[in-house]
Amino acid sequence: MYTFARGSIGDQAKVIEISRRSERASLCNLCGMTILNRRLATIVGATSLLAICLVVVPPIAQDPLYHVFADGRTLHNVPNFWNVVSNVPFFIVALYGIKALHARRAFIEPWERIAFCTFLAGTAAVGVGSIYYHLRPDDARLVWDRLPMIVVFMSLVASVIGERIGMKAGKLLLAPMIVAGLGAVLYWRLSGDLRSYAAVQFGSMLAVPIILALFPSRYSNAGRMWWMVILYALAKLAELLDHEIASVVTMGGHPWKHLAAACAALLYVDTVARRRPLQARQVSLGQPSFSALLQRQGANQ
Ligand SMILES: [Zn+2]
Repeated sequence: MYTFARGSIGDQAKVIEISRRSERASLCNLCGMTILNRRLATIVGATSLLAICLVVVPPIAQDPLYHVFADGRTLHNVPNFWNVVSNVPFFIVALYGIKALHARRAFIEPWERIAFCTFLAGTAAVGVGSIYYHLRPDDARLVWDRLPMIVVFMSLVASVIGERIGMKAGKLLLAPMIVAGLGAVLYWRLSGDLRSYAAVQFGSMLAVPIILALFPSRYSNAGRMWWMVILYALAKLAELLDHEIASVVTMGGHPWKHLAAACAALLYVDTVARRRPLQARQVSLGQPSFSALLQRQGANQ
């Protein structure tokens, strides 16, 4: 009877312990799901907010002063010399990116290589389109600057979604996002209303840092992506301060915008060239960034 009682207590203790472990595991899973759902809800919320703004805000016309840059000097028979030649780095970035295409471990799935090829082709086309625009800036030429730019943005966002949220989602979104981006530019050109283009460009500029902050990458070196975001923010700042910068440097801010944007693209291309897939256990939903992942790995060693 006593032996049976001890056995019972022991069995009960084991059952309780197993039950507690199972409960803890369930709670962890629940937390994981909650974290994932919360992060996805943030993305859906931000997208919905942008869509509401698109409907509520009245049509936006392209400001004709947009084409008036601080430095319009003709040098060596090239009009708007610095705004034109500062596009050359985009070709260099695209050429450098070919190196990454040969890196066998830089892509987990074949569609990511296609997205990266699209990014590189778009970057080279930005060089062509931007030179064409800056030689004689007007709305008719600006469309050829914006079309390749939106291809670069959309292929980047789809790639980031793929490597951080879900491979399937990135793969499915790549083509529709590029088509939607091109459609937004063409809609602006045909209707004169900038809202859809502004929403797509502003939305992708916001989407990348939000996804970087909320979802861990499946690849190594992912922390470097933040430098890409910072460089692109500097590019936008230089664009906004074109005339103010001209009071300090004659060429104004716009050539620096081209250079900073090309550096941001170079950083992304170099990150892809050097990255390697992480093991599944290294990619945790609880880790919001690659740097946090590194810290945890460092602490465990
Ligand atoms: Zn430009």
